[in-house]
Parts: sequence; structure tokens; C-alpha cells
Amino acid sequence: MTATAPRAAAAASSLPPPGGLNSLQPLRGGPRELRPQEHDQGREDESRLRSSRPGDATIPAAVSRAPRNPSRIALAISFFSLFPLLHCAPAPGPRRAVREPRPSPRAVLVSFDGVAGERLETLLADPAKLPTGAFRRLAARGFHAVRSQPPTPSLTAVSHITHVTGALPESTGIVSNTMLDFAKLFPATISGFDAPIRAETLWQAARRQGKRVGVMLYPGADGKGPQRTANWMMTWPGDPVAPGKLRSLDAAAWLPVEASEGPPSFSPVRRAVLSFAKTSHSVRLLALDRTDDGRVDYDRVLVVSETGPRREVRVGEWFPVEVASGEGRTGAWCKVLALAPDLSRAEIYVGPLSRSTGVPREWVRALDDQIGFWPGTPDHEAFGAESGRSEIFLEQTDRLVDFLTRADLLALSRRDWDLLLVYQPEVDEVSHEFLLIDPRQPRFTPERSARFLRLVEESYALADRSLDAVEKSLSPADSLFVTSDHGMTAIWGEISINEILRQADLVKLDAEKNVAATSPLAGVPASGIAHVYVNPAGAPGALDRAKRVLEDFRVHGESPFDRIVRRDDAEELGLRAPESGDLIVLAKPGFLFTKKIEEGAPVGERRDYGGHGYRNVYPELDATFFAAGPGIPPSRAETIGSWEIAARVARALGIEPPRNAAR
Ligand SMILES: [Zn+2]
Repeated sequence: MTATAPRAAAAASSLPPPGGLNSLQPLRGGPRELRPQEHDQGREDESRLRSSRPGDATIPAAVSRAPRNPSRIALAISFFSLFPLLHCAPAPGPRRAVREPRPSPRAVLVSFDGVAGERLETLLADPAKLPTGAFRRLAARGFHAVRSQPPTPSLTAVSHITHVTGALPESTGIVSNTMLDFAKLFPATISGFDAPIRAETLWQAARRQGKRVGVMLYPGADGKGPQRTANWMMTWPGDPVAPGKLRSLDAAAWLPVEASEGPPSFSPVRRAVLSFAKTSHSVRLLALDRTDDGRVDYDRVLVVSETGPRREVRVGEWFPVEVASGEGRTGAWCKVLALAPDLSRAEIYVGPLSRSTGVPREWVRALDDQIGFWPGTPDHEAFGAESGRSEIFLEQTDRLVDFLTRADLLALSRRDWDLLLVYQPEVDEVSHEFLLIDPRQPRFTPERSARFLRLVEESYALADRSLDAVEKSLSPADSLFVTSDHGMTAIWGEISINEILRQADLVKLDAEKNVAATSPLAGVPASGIAHVYVNPAGAPGALDRAKRVLEDFRVHGESPFDRIVRRDDAEELGLRAPESGDLIVLAKPGFLFTKKIEEGAPVGERRDYGGHGYRNVYPELDATFFAAGPGIPPSRAETIGSWEIAARVARALGIEPPRNAAR
């Protein structure tokens, strides 16, 4: 695999030496400082790996995809076991070539956000589900723990940092997805994704020991400072350049066009311009009538982007729009949702204008050139559970997975890594929106539940499809670890901790209705947990009162809280950390904490359906874990702790685990 190959078709010809990861390692015991776990249970199963050797296929261009059956797409993409060539990287050589000296071990750790071990187990037990079979193969050929227990709280930032450090939040300092920012004035907050990590991470430990690390979107590895940087990385893009938006056009939006300007059309060509909010970018649309039937019936739109080819689309079709930018390939996936034949009404979805980020620039350029622009995440406002257009949410998810899979394969095809960390968000995105499985949830009906559950299951199938492609691109000498950060549970209510405390005069609001700088306390909520911090400038006693107020709080006669614990007493939760609130409040599953503060409304109905972020004792909130590779024999366990993962990966790489890791 040296040169650039003709695109496409070649994929199927990449043939691989047989092999596969063979052996596996037994799990080791839990971390020393682990809390006693209370739950048990879970199950799940199989898989196997397959090896294949890089062929010379390149990554297929992003294709515009009509709505389709995602599982079929899944099959289609896995077909391309793409092993893209990366022009900018040194050409990879076959790692296992017979005459080469024994290659140094490589390991890949993949995290599929939100994959619940129990749900995955149920799907694995049903031959009709997860048709690509990657999770099954992996379980069959390696070690599989049905459930990987997250730390408390089971939140994305917290849990990822635990599994890459092997340490609990009390040692990592990442105690929530949102925390008080002690470097700023009370009560400013910082994201748990951005806050300093006190424990050594896998990428730091590997680099310290001379290993090269690549990162694809992994939480915590964002390139902000040397401790958060790998040798090369694709980082999670922040907010889009412009958000996605549904646009409705009436007849007046379509203006006449000079006859010479338009393409052939049986009715006069008309044009509309859609701009991307808060930017100078826009896209021109030309309405065309392609049927010679003597009637005015516009049926196509010619899309004229700032850059890239023009393309003609019909109702129901997606189209990419790219804009001119010096900061990397930037574009939006858009869709014609409706187009009245007389142009009296048109509805166009203009997707989030987005671009990839990472380091170094050459790597981002390679992603831009070979994979395309970052397609953005699915739009829950436009296509969420209440939209009546949930199939479009899944189409967007599918596109994102396709993009990420191709990007991951490009990363895998580089030869300059020993450890590769890969992250994908699809199951989390879909489960948050559509996990309608409990009659207590708003607008629950059995029919709606079944329909939404199919979407959730499709997201698992997409993860399976992506894993299939990753697995097939590895050699038998490589180790592959697959995990997730938490499961997901049904949500029906939301609680405003700041409104509860405001009603007791323990929280004061400023003119913008945010917690005031002079407030005695500030609640910092994130999903299932709220940290309550005492204002250092405040009077003593507020915390005691707050604890009593919260302990007395009831929803339908019951406390919605699972634990209300002072920081000093939070060792049992793994949260006795200076970053934690003076009071730590965990909700019972079913309730989430909201940031909203509406006077008189401490409790409200939840808009979305899936949630997490609770104490780590609820089996449905557990993640999953698979390991395969040299020295890892087939075996199975019901549960491991997510804090065991860092040491396992280190072992496969032949390095010492991160300094704080449970061994
Ligand atoms: Zn997550």
C-alpha cells in the first residue's frame, strides 16, 4: 500500500493475511480504591476479529444519501473495508510482513458513547439484530465483559477520563460534565471536557514511554496544552460555524433569473438565496421545471454553492453545500423537504455549517481532502422526537457514522501510531432523543415506543457497522479494545436544583435570572448530578439548610434524590475531590437536573427521553467492554470496572499503565 489508488472499487480486492487476534488476557481485579459496587448482572456476548490487510482502496467520496434502510447502508460501508492511503503520512508498511522484525505492539481503543452493556447484550442475543456482526465476532474471539461499570456520576467526560486514567473522579478532578471554575469569580463554571485532568492519561503514559499516539475525537484529548495532546489528532469540533436551520420559502422568495443565466427549464428559472446565519456565506438555489408537460410544475433545484460543483436535487434528497474558507473545508449537508410545483411553498433544511479540527494542520487537510467536511451531529431541534421527522435524525446519524468511520480508517492506515484512541457518538445521540421505554415518560404509547426503540437499535447497528470496518483494518498482531462511557435510562422529569434552593432563599438570582455572584449557594447541574457550591464570600450555615431543604423535597410524595452527600463524606462515591461541590446531590433515575431556573417551577417535564449521570449502581447505566489481541484468550465476565481499562490497554502495548491507574 504505497500509492494512491484509484478510488472506489478496489476495496474488495484488499486481501488479508489470515490471522486474527488470538489470545487474551484475563481481567485483573478491580482497582484498589474502588468503591464496593452494588449492582450485579448483565450479560452479552460475542464477536470475533478478523484481520485484513490494507489494500489499496481509497476512501469513497461522501455520497449523497437518499433515505434508506440504515442496516443496509451498514452492510454497504463495511463492504469497503477501506484502507485509505494517506498522502501526507509516511507510507505504511505491512506490519506483519514475514521478514520484518517482530513489530512493536499496537493497540486501538474505541469508545462508542452511550452503548449500554445490557441493551447490547439483548441485541447480541437476537440474530436479527446487529447484522454486521462485529460485536459478536469480537466477543467470540476475545474477552468480553457484559458490563463496564462507570464511575459516579455516569457522565461522558467523567467516565472517559476515568477509563483513560484508570482513576476515579476523586483522583482525576473530573467530577461532572459541568463544574465550578475556581479560577474565575463565583459562580462561573467550566466544562468537565475542558477542566484540568489531575491524573495521567493513557496518551500521556504512552508518549512518556516512547509510544506514538493518534486520537480521533477522544474526550479529554483536545490539543489544548501539551498534556491534552497526542502526536496527531482529530479533535471534537466546537459549535458549528452556523447552526442548522429549517427554512421555509414562499413564492416571494423566488426571484426571476435572466434567461441566459439559467439551465434548461420548461418554466422560467427562478432563484432563491439562503444565507448561513451570522456569516457572509450563502448558497443559491435555482428552481427548475424539468417536465415538458405544458404546466408550471417546478420539480428540481439546482444548487450553486460558493465552491464545488453544482448539483441538481429533487424533493427528499440531501445535498452538500461548501463555502469558501481559508480555515479548512467547510460545508453543510442540506435537504429539500418540500417543494410545491408552483413554488408557493418550499421547505429546505440547511444543515450546520461545519469543519473538522485537529492537529497538525496537515492531518486535518488530509481528512478534508479524503473524507470531506465534518457533517455535523444530528439536529434534535429540527428532527428530534417531537418533530415527526425522526427518520431524518437517523439519516444524519448515519451520515456522521459514515464520515467518522472513513476518517477512522484513514487514521488506522497511518503507520505512525502505536496507540490509537477512537470515539464515536451515535448511540448516545440517538438514545438521548428516542429512549422512550417507560410509560411514565411524556407522550408514551406502545406504538411510539416501539418506533423509537427501532431508532435506538439502528444506532447500535451503525456502531456495529463502524466497528466492523475498524476491526477488519487491523492485523492479528494488533489489540483492539472497545468500550463505552455509560448506558442510558428512561427520563420523565427534570428538576431545577437552583429553583428549589431559590425558594428557600439559598440561591439568589441576578437580573438575567442566573445565579448571582452574591448568592449564598450555587447549584451546578449536569444530567443526573448537581454539585452545590458554597459562595466563599457567603455566610456560614447555608449548606446545612440546603441539605435539609433537599432532603425534605418531594415529587408526588417521594424524594427524587438518590444521594445527598457532603463532599467530605463522598469517598463512597469516589467524589471526595476539591473539584466537587460542598454538597453532592444525585438524582434517582427518571429525573435529570436542568440548568433552567423558572420561578415557581422546580420540577418540569423532560423534553428528551434518555439520560444518565447517576450513581454507578444501576445496571442499565453500565457501559460495555471487549478486548481482543495477542495474549487475550476468549473469556467472558459479567462486569469490570471502567477504571481497569487503562491498565489493560497499557499491558497490550507493553508499557506501564498511567501513574494513577488501578492495576
Ligand atoms: Zn456519553
